[in-house]
Order: sequence, then structure tokens, then C-alpha cells
Amino acid sequence: MIQYLKNNRLQALFRGFLFGTFALMSLHCAFRPSGDLKGYESYFPHENPNTSIQKGKIRVTFLGTTSILLDDGETQVLTDGFFTRPSLWKTAFTKIESDPVILTSVLEKAKINRLKGIFVCHSHYDHAMDAPFVAKYTKSKLYGSNSTINVGLGAGLDKENMEEFQVGKPIKLGKFTITVLESKHTPPFRILGKTNATDPNFPNITTPLVPPVKALEYIEGGTFDFFIQHGKNKIVIKSSTNFVKGAYEKIKADVLFLGIAQLSLQPKPFQEEYFEETIQKLNPKLIIPIHWDNFFKPLNKPLEPNLKLGDDFDANMQELLKRTSKDQIQVQLLQGFESLDLF
Ligand SMILES: [Zn+2]
Repeated sequence: MIQYLKNNRLQALFRGFLFGTFALMSLHCAFRPSGDLKGYESYFPHENPNTSIQKGKIRVTFLGTTSILLDDGETQVLTDGFFTRPSLWKTAFTKIESDPVILTSVLEKAKINRLKGIFVCHSHYDHAMDAPFVAKYTKSKLYGSNSTINVGLGAGLDKENMEEFQVGKPIKLGKFTITVLESKHTPPFRILGKTNATDPNFPNITTPLVPPVKALEYIEGGTFDFFIQHGKNKIVIKSSTNFVKGAYEKIKADVLFLGIAQLSLQPKPFQEEYFEETIQKLNPKLIIPIHWDNFFKPLNKPLEPNLKLGDDFDANMQELLKRTSKDQIQVQLLQGFESLDLF
């Protein structure tokens, strides 16, 4: 009998050990990057032009997630400007806020010194959190939805340094003309039983959001794309992997910055429609994937693909490259702080 009990206990211990090892292995796996950039070397330009920008050209500098700096040598325009990138631990378990030391170092390194406007595509923290401080430090204007304006007010930004943008109404900054287009957020997903979907009863940030706050306090507040014209050149910046049917009906773009986060996790018909509503409609010569990097890691280290926990970079790129090779469209990835002359 004692032997039997002992065996039983041993078996239970062994089962516990196996389960624990399996759980640890899965966790370990989930916190690994969902791709290896070594396989995409040929897609990185590695040019980093250091010369002054020639007249008529537009230089883009990628600053992680969907933070894109456009510069024509006279005027700079930025989307989102999310640079603090708190760790996964901090984001999950603490209140978060912008880090002025990180922000100023990024502004300096990326030579953001003639910025005229920051356009925020939606009000989740990984897009909107730092934007008011970037506006403050650079004395530029913050453009966003009403929710983003409340992020700005909570951060202490003056009303005259902000403007609520209107869909379809062009904004002129230097030679850039920016038109805001209606868009949609990447379909919601679940992590450890929790969804990231916005509560339909609270779709907007309705009062000034004073940091530090929990990441979840940054409510989407609508999602927007940006159609940017500069002379005869046209650019579209689409940050989220979703679309409003027909939103690009009347426009074309030479360059498309395309959000690919979680693309391959969506059903096949969604993926096909996403490409039809973006690539097929805009007919770009060049696509630069965005929102592919793990934004829990700092921007001053080489960017890594999103974690396996919530994404699949390799599969996203495979889907994109399958489509672009068929249409003979050029694809370029950019590392953090990497620049490229677009035209
Ligand atoms: Zn979001």
C-alpha cells in the first residue's frame, strides 16, 4: 500500500513537472520574436543618407511602430511619435507615462528640429502617449481625434498647440498637404483571456487624460489613415491592419506605409480584402511595412519583430511578399532611425 501511495505521489509529481516544463516552454516561446530579421536582409536599404535633402525629395526616417518622420529639407511632419516604449512588465502591471530623457534623445538623434505637425492615428498608448510631449518640446502642433486632444490636454499641452482633425479636410504644412482618411483598428484579439477591444460603451477619451495612467486608459477613439501630397508625389500612411471599404476609391499613392501587425492571424478572405482595399486601390511603387516591431523594447536598440505572444511577423511578411511579387511592387523594411529618400 505504501509503495502504491509512493508511486502515485511520484506519478503526480512527474505529471506536475511535465506540465510545468511545458508551461514554461510555451511561455518562453511566446516571449520570443515572431521572426528573424536575418532572413530579410535584402529588404533593408542600409543606405542612411547623411547628406542634406535635395530640393523636391522627401526623406523618411522610421522611428518604430507607426512613428514616421517625413522631411523635405524645409518642413518635417511626424506620425504618432511614440518613443518611450515602456517594457512589457511596466505596461502590464504599472501606470505608464512619457520619459522626457528618452524623448529628447530621440528628437536629437533623429534630428527633429523643424517639425511642424504630429498626426496621431488613434489614441491607444502606443500611438498617442508621447505625442503631446513631442509637440511641446518641438513647439509643433498636435493633430488628432477628440480623444487625442484629451490626451494632449491631460499632458498639459496648450489648446492653441492642438487641432482636432476632420476626415477629408486637408491640412497644409509647408509643401506637405495632409488629408485624414477614415479607417478602422486592427481586429481585436485576446491575450490570457483578455481582449484589447474598446468597450463599445466607452469608445472615446472624453476628459483630459492625466499621466501616469494604466495603458488601458488610452482608448482608441477612432482610427485614421493619412494621405500626404507633396508636389506630384503621394504617400499613404496606414497604421492599423484594417480598412474602410472604398476609403481609397479616389486616390493613388506612390509610397504606401502599410500596417502589417497581426495580418496573418486574420482569416484569409480578410487578408485578401485588406490587400484589395489598399495595394490594389492605391497601386503604389513602394510599400514600407510598419507596426511590425516589438514596442516593449527601447528604440535605441535594433528593432525586433513583435512577440510570438500576439503576432507572427514571418507569416505577415510571407503574405505581403506573395502579393507584392505578383504585382512587382518594391518592399523595403526600415530599422529604427533608418532613413530613405523616397522620391
Ligand atoms: Zn491600437
